[in-house]
Amino acid sequence: MQNSDNLQFLLNNPNLSADLKHIAQKVLNKQRITFDEGVLLYEQGELGYLGTLANHIRQERHGDKTYFNRNFHIEPTNLCVYDCKFCSYSRLLKQKSEGWEYTMDEMFDMVTKYDGEPVTEVHIVGGVLPQYDVPFYQQLFARIRAHRPELHIKALTPVEYHYIFKKAKIDYATGMRLMQEAGLDSIPGGGAEIFDPEIRDQISKDKCTADQWLAIHEEWHKLGGRSNATMLYGHIEEFKHRIDHMERLRQLQDKTGGFQTFIPLKFRNKDNQMSHVPEVSVIEDLRNYAVARIYLDNFDHIKAYWAMISRTTAQLSLNFGVDDIDGTLDDTTKIYSMAGAEEQHPGMSTKQLVELIKHVGRQPIERDTLYNVVTDYTNFEFENEPKPQYYKLPVIN
Ligand code: SF4
Repeated sequence: MQNSDNLQFLLNNPNLSADLKHIAQKVLNKQRITFDEGVLLYEQGELGYLGTLANHIRQERHGDKTYFNRNFHIEPTNLCVYDCKFCSYSRLLKQKSEGWEYTMDEMFDMVTKYDGEPVTEVHIVGGVLPQYDVPFYQQLFARIRAHRPELHIKALTPVEYHYIFKKAKIDYATGMRLMQEAGLDSIPGGGAEIFDPEIRDQISKDKCTADQWLAIHEEWHKLGGRSNATMLYGHIEEFKHRIDHMERLRQLQDKTGGFQTFIPLKFRNKDNQMSHVPEVSVIEDLRNYAVARIYLDNFDHIKAYWAMISRTTAQLSLNFGVDDIDGTLDDTTKIYSMAGAEEQHPGMSTKQLVELIKHVGRQPIERDTLYNVVTDYTNFEFENEPKPQYYKLPVIN
């Protein structure tokens, strides 16, 4: 059965409410849904209904293609001047003995460890500390760029940029231009959390506001740069806050067109100040991917971080609007494992990622950061795939 047939089947269902039928008709007609309709999807859309709509949109945009990339992370430090309540990763300065602070040379060494390896992207993001300032990152980006010009540098969120630009007394436009001149290629989606000011104030007081987060992305887009956007969901927010978050992103995307991918991030409750808040179910994760795919009609891609939600949920998400499951990672990130993700040493070989995608009947496409096709693995036969090499990170007690 074609996806449009599935939608037609929904429209003919006498038990479906008129409101939900109206939304399904809009999706079929490629019309944008409203704020209130977005909230209604969360309130009344059952898993099967949402999946049918989201899968229709994904199929129309991408067919069977499912994207991944070969990347590694550098997390400069897990010490942070901020104290976000949901954060399992950071240690305040008073807990310095539990943290790490990599030097420029140590980070550069991590890059050179991948010399000759077919990675296409380094993803740099971590805590916020005064010594990691504008000149530090200018030098780091420039060193990486000079050493390996083709490696895409995706680095730092507006949380870090806002802090370092303020400290350097420069405006966002100047700051982003300096970063671009130093070698920055794109901005990851982190630090967005939830934009609603009241909820944001309760979970991540003091760091950049929603408007500041959006303004930094806007300046970057004006320079021709691309970026991603995230949303932390499943904690104390309500459905209307999720739609408000996506609405603000949708509006900026209408203006600049600079976002590539939306990445919902599930709140995990291990070892943080919100451990009393229960985590939402896998069903809610899937519903959330689907609503994002339906609401964000001007975003090309919806991504699920397999390292955060587990491999099987990532496979399931491919039927709920997701077309990208991120990268090989190579055990270079602690952000998810420290928050309680099932994957405690996230790393998959290319073969494993390809098989994971093929097992659910999709075409695995290795992409670069800007979604240029690197390799189409649909009919690819692997020979002697090397085992993933793990880079040792410090152990946190
Ligand atoms: S979420 Fe980011 S800004 Fe907030 S405490 Fe953690 S590392 Fe720091």
